[in-house]
Amino acid sequence: MPAKEEIIFKGLAASKGISIGKPFLYRAEVPNYNMDLPEGGSIIAEKEIDDYENSIAQSIKELNKIFTLAKEKLDDKNLLIFEAQLSFLFDDFLHAKVKQRIVNEKRTAFEIFKDEIKNLENAILASGDDYMRERINDVEDMKNRVLRNLLKGRLVSKITENSIVIAKNLTPADTILFSSRSMLGIATDLGGINSHVSIISRSLNIPAVVALKDVSFKINQDDLLIIDGYKGLLIKNPSTETIAKYERQIAKNRRFEKKLEELEKLPSTTKDGKEIRLSTNLEFNNEVDYVVTHFGCDVGLYRTEHLFLEAGDFPSEEDQYNQYKFLAEHIYPGIVTIRTFDIGGDKILPDAQKELNPFLGWRGIRICLDKKDVFIAQLRAILRASAGGNIKIMFPMISGVEEVIKIKSLLEEAKSQLKKEHIRYDKNIKIGIMVEVPSAILIADELSKLVDFFSIGTNDLVQYALAVDRDSSLVSELYEKFHPAVLRLIDMLVKSADKNGIQVSVCGEMASDPLGSLLLIGLGVTELSVEAASYLRIKRLIRLVNHDSARNISAKILTMDTAKKIKDYIEECFNKNIGEKLLRDDH
Ligand code: PEP
Ligand code: MG
Repeated sequence: MPAKEEIIFKGLAASKGISIGKPFLYRAEVPNYNMDLPEGGSIIAEKEIDDYENSIAQSIKELNKIFTLAKEKLDDKNLLIFEAQLSFLFDDFLHAKVKQRIVNEKRTAFEIFKDEIKNLENAILASGDDYMRERINDVEDMKNRVLRNLLKGRLVSKITENSIVIAKNLTPADTILFSSRSMLGIATDLGGINSHVSIISRSLNIPAVVALKDVSFKINQDDLLIIDGYKGLLIKNPSTETIAKYERQIAKNRRFEKKLEELEKLPSTTKDGKEIRLSTNLEFNNEVDYVVTHFGCDVGLYRTEHLFLEAGDFPSEEDQYNQYKFLAEHIYPGIVTIRTFDIGGDKILPDAQKELNPFLGWRGIRICLDKKDVFIAQLRAILRASAGGNIKIMFPMISGVEEVIKIKSLLEEAKSQLKKEHIRYDKNIKIGIMVEVPSAILIADELSKLVDFFSIGTNDLVQYALAVDRDSSLVSELYEKFHPAVLRLIDMLVKSADKNGIQVSVCGEMASDPLGSLLLIGLGVTELSVEAASYLRIKRLIRLVNHDSARNISAKILTMDTAKKIKDYIEECFNKNIGEKLLRDDH
């Protein structure tokens, strides 16, 4: 048989690393996808019925979640749609029929359910009842949801460990679902390097390449793949030479990682003695032990959205309390900065709450201020966990003073409830805001009077300052963190924080990039919170640079007018000053 031809697909490098392995084709997004159904006769009816019941239960759970999240915002017409969909999911007659047919016809739940829904739709169309005809779309939505769940449950349980997941797109919820299995990599048709799937891949330390256009249709089950998360490549059926080259690269990277470990216990101080506080961003509990034993640092950003995504609803105060307490106790004496729910944007199931511009819509603090009960429950949980004195609270998506005033009044309410109930909490708990909307920078002097610290969220700051969707592969080339406007905004904020005597850190991805962190240090930032996978690389950088030189570099950069000039200049200075190639452990 002739060797298969090597084909290289180029996308965006979203998470570092290289793996060689087989694909796992994830097509849960395509409800009509005709998955490799078992041969007739080999169906295990109990298993099919079990899967069916699970997917109905999951679909009800999802709809209820969307419903609780959005009910205040929905008009009567949309409420009706939810109710209609739920009523179909509670239709015992339909379920009994599907199950009976699975047993009698020995066909999959997937096929039978699809068939039954077709019958239902035909009956609705034939009824001549206008109201019922309007429900056809609801039936379709409901059908797609159930089929997707049916497929998803199967696919995830079928996912071959140690494979490279190939998908059109993955929602953050999908990625979390996959994180329970060990994956070699993720490659998707869509997505941007700062979308949450990419961020999650980085925190799970899995190589990822996104924006590969239509790659998911070009990969077959029996292909061998190499994913190169440094260069943003997916190589299908690599030649023997390519495999050998990548194997050498993997071995080299391992040696580099090993060498980096020597830095674990060393201080993160610049060559000329300036301390830069280096903390880590954290998302999953399975990262905690690693962070504690290897870095022993603070957690500068703990994102809480995944609790919502995993629970399928807002988690209870008690569940949150247990989670936050677990973190506070493990990271102690380090400090954990807990960010309140930043749901919305891309961090919600895509069909949940359709908005034309989700990033400009109902997101982050806006949802929490509208859903006071949910917010108070989260604040109470954080406060209760703060009794040991090592928690700070941070609020996302702040755009103005009114929001902070409202937040503070709700925080006081949560505190006074706890006081009445004689529950302990840290009375001096520090509060801060994410600075990620440009308006917050323009009024930083006012905001600094209301909070204890600022943390710059560069991922969103870039998108909101430049009007470039952080998720869209179409405009990914315009998403430029070294844009002079972005750097000048950061400079303004640092100056305002200095003037007003409050701390400022950076927890966006810019801090995890060597050139970015060099610039930030030069702009006067003294705390960087980076993703765990970059922690030692950034520490290495800090120890190699001179604070004074970094200041000079950044001062010069603020006079430049294009990102290209800025990047060329830092790279040149870096190589000259440090006398060594930029931290390119990769290639
Ligand atoms: C940011 O916007 O930079 C940030 C850290 O928050 P997130 O990526 O969760 O939006
Ligand atoms: Mg953000």
